[in-house]
Amino acid sequence: MSETVQGIPASPGIAIGQALLARWPRLDIPHATVAPDQIGSEVERFRQACQQASLRTRQLRDSVAQRLGSVQAKIFDPQLLMLEDPDLIEGTVTYITDSFLTAERAFSLRVLEFRSQWLDATHARVMDRVADLNDVQLRVLAELIDLPELDLFQNHSGGPMILVAHDLTPSRMVEIDPEQVIGIATDGGTRTAHASILARSLGLPTVVGLGDLSRRVETGQELIVDGLRGRVIIAPTDAERNRYHHREVRVKETEAEVERLAELEPVTRDGIRIGLHANLDLPADAARAVAANADGVGLFRTEFLVVGKTSMPDEEEQLEAFRGVLETMAPRPVTIRTFDLGGDKFPMFLPPITEENPFLGWRGLRIYEMMPELFHHQARAVLRAAALGQIQLLIPMVNSVDDVIRIRAVIDKACDELKREGLEHRVPPLGLMLETPAAIAIVEKLARHADFFSIGTNDLIQYMLAVDRGNAQLLPFFDLYHPALLRYIHDAASAASKLGRPLCVCGEAASDTLGAVLLLGLGIRSLSCAPNAILEQKKLIRALDLESISEVVIGLLEAETGLEIRRRVQEVLGDMVDLTDINSNTSLSHPG
Ligand code: PEP
Ligand code: MG
Repeated sequence: MSETVQGIPASPGIAIGQALLARWPRLDIPHATVAPDQIGSEVERFRQACQQASLRTRQLRDSVAQRLGSVQAKIFDPQLLMLEDPDLIEGTVTYITDSFLTAERAFSLRVLEFRSQWLDATHARVMDRVADLNDVQLRVLAELIDLPELDLFQNHSGGPMILVAHDLTPSRMVEIDPEQVIGIATDGGTRTAHASILARSLGLPTVVGLGDLSRRVETGQELIVDGLRGRVIIAPTDAERNRYHHREVRVKETEAEVERLAELEPVTRDGIRIGLHANLDLPADAARAVAANADGVGLFRTEFLVVGKTSMPDEEEQLEAFRGVLETMAPRPVTIRTFDLGGDKFPMFLPPITEENPFLGWRGLRIYEMMPELFHHQARAVLRAAALGQIQLLIPMVNSVDDVIRIRAVIDKACDELKREGLEHRVPPLGLMLETPAAIAIVEKLARHADFFSIGTNDLIQYMLAVDRGNAQLLPFFDLYHPALLRYIHDAASAASKLGRPLCVCGEAASDTLGAVLLLGLGIRSLSCAPNAILEQKKLIRALDLESISEVVIGLLEAETGLEIRRRVQEVLGDMVDLTDINSNTSLSHPG
């Protein structure tokens, strides 16, 4: 009997292979002391270990910069900062001098204290820091004592494996040999963790947040990792294996067809041109967007500039990042979304906040009120970038016209300053994310203050249905096909079209086969997808008869249940394409 475990999708793609269980040894450092006259040399030994660890981290950072790019390499910066953190380092020295502890024991105790303090707060941002701390601990201890080497592959000469671990730290991630490992599944982890960012850069299908998977799986057992839907299937049945093989073949075929598909236009069978843009999480994603011949960037998330950072990125650094993407994408337009912090992304330079419900708390543009310089610097960088190419500015989590008025005031101020300073700039079109029910309910009023809109279905579903988007267990309730969502998306599409405001959908639903069909049927004419989904979506669009789809979907506005809606969309799609294995991660986990 197979078993499906639902986790959090961290890096898309499918991997079918045998599990390789990575159990790293527990670091039990025995209590040991040194003689009082050895304290000086013990402190010196510790400081040298930190220096060596720092050197090794820098080497790792440089090799990652060469292999994967400078942005990915930056994920080692927080670790370097930890190695200079007086609280961690001098705290350890105090344990050596006051309690005569050995350097390894003193450091382990101090790390343990840090970890337990941080784990009191279970937010994703803290979990990311714990993974960094684990890396730092290993590297310093490796300088102080003999650590058992873990050669994962020593007993395996077999084919490529799926690495199953309790958790992965960034440096373990970069040590992975892509020849041997074809997928990753971990008990812990978050989508924004550094290890997940690296998995995406390495193109390794990855699912995180799988609970106790590593205790349920044995090395050698067959697994399927579905990185798009965030699922792992243990001991798949023949039918499941065949279905995924079929899908893998389809993906490979699409890859083989890349050049041909990239040349073609995303036009439906009945002649409607659909806008097909790319979502970028990192500047390096722009190259894949160009390879897929995307119409432009519909959503450039800028959080990579701040995640894991201890200080706010300055204007020049941001301008450089925007310039790079503009150059790669030219002459296509690039939509820069301003920082959407809070929720699960809380860089260290923000003041510590204790919140019961971070997704209902200091998030998106609310953070700009708490820290005005954050948006002010970014607005200046975007205005300057807009003088270099086709830029659009997109604001996250807008709830009211008042929000837009405040945003416009900052943009005006930035514009005046740049004029005074004689710096080249341009005020780009201003777009608003529609990702709260409030924003959609007043979309006509917002339209008077905005040039375009973009629906973020990830948050819209979360806030409309009160379902935490990060909780993998709640996925069956995270239902794009809920009749309320249909109504709201249709209202937004109608209002935007009536008022002549371009409207795109940039949430994950746009990258999903069935989701895209529903959205197009509701009147959406522009989608922004993960770069690796663009060609599949183009292929899909070219197979659709949009008139028939719209007729069915508009009829479904009267439907009573999400299940009925999903079934009907699936049926109408089945008349147009081969449905044996559709790429759908949105609420297909409902039974039936
Ligand atoms: C969304 O909410 O759908 C969206 C695209 O924004 P993010 O996923 O970055 O919150
Ligand atoms: Mg969002």
